[in-house]
Amino acid sequence: MYCPHCGRTLVESGGKFFCYPGQACFAGGVAAALRERFPAPRPAAPEFEVGCRPDEWWCPGCGVPLGEGSACSVCGGTIADLRVRLVELAPHRDENGSWAWGHS
Ligand SMILES: [Zn+2]
Ligand SMILES: [Zn+2]
Repeated sequence: MYCPHCGRTLVESGGKFFCYPGQACFAGGVAAALRERFPAPRPAAPEFEVGCRPDEWWCPGCGVPLGEGSACSVCGGTIADLRVRLVELAPHRDENGSWAWGHS
């Protein structure tokens, strides 16, 4: 699974997903939704530079930046309806180390 905030590979432990660089933890319903929608993550595409940037989301299954509406052009998966929960329940630090509240 890839971090929807920054595209880095998540570490799974105890039913939760962790993004250590972003200090984010995906647990409970958010983790379950990610696992259900993206059950078989693909190898990450190397051509994208990962990072937490404003207005950018990543496909948890493909590791590619998502386009308009947070839908993935590779697998068709979407996290559009999860974004509010992701920001509230799994806050993430941006590349400067501040909490990415502006990430929408
Ligand atoms: Zn991350
Ligand atoms: Zn995808």
